[in-house]
Amino acid sequence: MSILKNAVDSIALGLEDYETSIAEEDERRIISCTRNIYAGILLLFKHKLSSIDNKLIWVGKKGKRTVNYQDIKDKFEELKITVNWDRIDKINDYRNEAEHYFSTLEHKAVQGLISNSFLIISDFVTEQLKQDPKELFGSDSWAILVEVHEVYEKEKEGCIGSMETLNFFSESICDAFVSYSCNECGSDLIYPDELNKEAIESQFVCKACDVTYSYEEIVSPAIEDHYYAETYLAMKDGGDSPIADCPFCGGAYLCEEKICAECGESAVHECELCGNDIPPEELSEDSLCGYCSHIMSKDD
Ligand SMILES: [Zn+2]
Ligand SMILES: [Zn+2]
Ligand SMILES: [Zn+2]
Repeated sequence: MSILKNAVDSIALGLEDYETSIAEEDERRIISCTRNIYAGILLLFKHKLSSIDNKLIWVGKKGKRTVNYQDIKDKFEELKITVNWDRIDKINDYRNEAEHYFSTLEHKAVQGLISNSFLIISDFVTEQLKQDPKELFGSDSWAILVEVHEVYEKEKEGCIGSMETLNFFSESICDAFVSYSCNECGSDLIYPDELNKEAIESQFVCKACDVTYSYEEIVSPAIEDHYYAETYLAMKDGGDSPIADCPFCGGAYLCEEKICAECGESAVHECELCGNDIPPEELSEDSLCGYCSHIMSKDD
């Protein structure tokens, strides 16, 4: 069987799993859905690589094992084939977490994965494989992909819209809430139960599993996720981290916005004594840099 046929079959199977998971409320079919769709996408990529170089696909970097995610990513970069890896990572994260961490598996929560998959598949088949995705997948499978994507997008837009009516300490906290996924089921369809309120006083509901969160429960993990890449780079290359421990409450303090995402307090960022910028790790409840505060305490 060709790799392309395998890819199409795997994605079609995944969609069948999705439909069955709704009809029979069968949680196992949700895991199988995520596995099949993810595997199908990787196979689509492998098909592309094998069409460029026949030998390549069977030899990964360490000898016999077949080409995996990282090999494909490296190879695509080398060949200047663009794919939205953030989306793939989201699909893969959900797949992995559905298997190991989520306490409830809701078919609604998979819609985000299918929607992301639709975008990846549609672009990749059109741009890289120069084929009509509807023809390649057949109108039945394609119709499910399009429909789930459209329903999901609409619901997501609704969630974003109501989130934006809240008053957050800063806009990036709102962005972090918008991209936050439910701890229990992985859905990112999270919305506030009331509009036009102070975010910090709001309750947030997961549309897929109905779990409710307080502001405090979401804010730290949401901010950490949102700034994950930047924090990682700062740690790796040196440089200021975008988040520090809030000197007032210990929560996530946003250094650029100069405000705490958790308590909304702002620290003084310029030393009152020497006029230098106070680095994130030296922010404190008073207005001196670490050096001046050390000198002052000696004088006492
Ligand atoms: Zn949920
Ligand atoms: Zn704080
Ligand atoms: Zn100073």
